[in-house]
Amino acid sequence: MSELIDRTVNAGAPVALVTGASRGIGRAIAVALAQKGWRIVLNYQSNADAAAEALGLIHAAGSTGTAVQANIAVASERAHLLDAALAAYGRIDLLVNNAGMAPRKRMDMLQMSEASYDEVMGVNLKGPFFLTQAVAQHMAASRHEAGPRPKVINIGSMSAYISSTSRAEYCLSKAGMGMMTKLFADRLAEYGINVYEIRPGIIETDMTSAVHEKYDKRFAEGLAPIARWGQAEEVARAVVAIAADYLPYSTGEVINVDGGIHLQRL
Ligand code: NAP
Repeated sequence: MSELIDRTVNAGAPVALVTGASRGIGRAIAVALAQKGWRIVLNYQSNADAAAEALGLIHAAGSTGTAVQANIAVASERAHLLDAALAAYGRIDLLVNNAGMAPRKRMDMLQMSEASYDEVMGVNLKGPFFLTQAVAQHMAASRHEAGPRPKVINIGSMSAYISSTSRAEYCLSKAGMGMMTKLFADRLAEYGINVYEIRPGIIETDMTSAVHEKYDKRFAEGLAPIARWGQAEEVARAVVAIAADYLPYSTGEVINVDGGIHLQRL
């Protein structure tokens, strides 16, 4: 998609790079940050119409943004994403690793293919790891005291600790992201870069549309203390709280946005 970047809007405001921001949770995060005055680099993979729509919402929120097509699983496309972000605004104050995918087909783990394993791990874990590596190097090298303290937020999942044997590759990728959060939190603290993980529960987006009926039933049966679907905007609120620096003495912290599903109940 071609677009003109208006550098006069919110000039000097902090910049957030949000992966997978064309739809769902990523879009809600991008719009919520824009409402707080952040400038947005909006990454998407393939749906240019959805990206254009999300960009329109960012503008309607009174901020500015640029959309960058890149598959985060591919090294050259990650490099393009970083280059495009810096060319647009010259800085990245917040990286939100949101882009992710469910397996194309739910398969019992005894039948799951190696191709599906590689694809899901590439998008959900390898891509975010190496994107964070590259962005963190830039943040560490260019940190200026006047701006906000740079941060990284990983959008994980309750699948990091709950077994779903029909999507083992997804669970493995999100469990890996849990360790990725700890590793980067440990490594980047010396540069003043805090790292957080948000673990959504069951959120009403395109990703969960195919299993809507199944989860309606599970909620009715008592799956979660807060007995309803979560909304993308509720995940976005947690991101906004971190972005606003309300957790300055916490790093490697996990915030569950799941209606209490993580609680063990008798
Ligand atoms: P979604 O509705 O399927 O949207 C996925 C977004 O990621 C889209 O913007 C898509 O871009 C982008 N994307 C997918 N693969 C990509 C790639 N390889 N490179 C760049 N962008 C890519 O998903 P969602 O429900 O909002 O989920 C967002 C994140 O939350 C994921 O990490 C997911 O695992 C996590 N999560 C979701 C739930 C839930 O219940 N929905 C629960 C826990 C965790 P295009 O529009 O171009 O396809």
